[in-house]
Amino acid sequence: MKVLVIGGAGYIGSHVVKALIKSGHEVTVFDNLSSGLRENLFDDAGFIEGNILNSEQLDAAFASASFDAAVHLAAFKGAGESMFKPEKYSVNNITGTINILNSMCAAGVKKLVFSSSAAVFGEPEYLPIDEDHPKNPENYYGFTKLEIERFLAWYDRLKGLKFAALRYFNAAGYDIDGELCGLEQNPANLLPVIMEAAAGMREKLQIFGDDYDTPDGTGVRDYVHVTDLADGHVKALDYISREGESLVVNLGSENGISVLELLEDARKISGSKIPAEITGRRPGDPAKLVASSAKAKELLGWEAKYSDCETLVRTSWDVYKRQVKL
Ligand code: UDP
Repeated sequence: MKVLVIGGAGYIGSHVVKALIKSGHEVTVFDNLSSGLRENLFDDAGFIEGNILNSEQLDAAFASASFDAAVHLAAFKGAGESMFKPEKYSVNNITGTINILNSMCAAGVKKLVFSSSAAVFGEPEYLPIDEDHPKNPENYYGFTKLEIERFLAWYDRLKGLKFAALRYFNAAGYDIDGELCGLEQNPANLLPVIMEAAAGMREKLQIFGDDYDTPDGTGVRDYVHVTDLADGHVKALDYISREGESLVVNLGSENGISVLELLEDARKISGSKIPAEITGRRPGDPAKLVASSAKAKELLGWEAKYSDCETLVRTSWDVYKRQVKL
């Protein structure tokens, strides 16, 4: 299939592009390189520099080839930031997505894979979190993802758009083949922060709370390797093409890892001391999030293969070590 990957120069997007190319798809990336990186682009994929807030650029991109499908990963993702800059998230995440949907409709492109998030659920009422779990986002970022899922359902009903909304849990790790190595700038997520501390790019890790009701008191998350996530996109695209049905599905490893467990593995693998200090809890952080991915397994035949703690840390450290030339 000919696929336009919007946000394909970003951290997850570049892994998705690689997986699509590997599966025989013909890919063009659309990205404004605001956080995406030129070094994440592939020679085997086309590239259009453009902004999802510019409908003319989107229309021109969709008119540039007869695309069969789009994958949309162009979004701001700072859950904390979204609470004090909601306008930024309304405009980019919501308006930008509506622009994409309208350009797709105008161009007659009827298949979309969309990056949603476990942030749509908010504080868990039970674990593991399945797709039917109540949706009460705790931050504005999660709210934008939930609203977009609702827009998608309406575009399906009114315009025949078939979509797959993939609710990622905590994306982490780097390309299992070591080919992709663009470092995220100013990361806020746990594993890249630990890596920066290990590589001497920041002074220390701050551990946001050690008094949670978890085995070691630190927050537990379901980390899913980005190569596994990328594979989920390919399988989701296959599913909507084959079944002609839309799909909302969780993508997680079903395995909970604490902050301290990740830190200990990172110390072992990097051989670095990684200074860390316990600070207060970060507002809005649940104690524990773990996915049920039973639906992804059943409908997509998808399962996390590389999401164990050791592989997550090792693939990340390989990249940081190389990039900072340690
Ligand atoms: N965390 C931490 N220090 C950091 C970043 C994150 O202790 O510098 C903790 C955070 O409280 C949570 C886990 O690591 O328990 C994952 O946080 P992250 O921001 O990576 O993802 P989130 O689950 O918030 O989307």
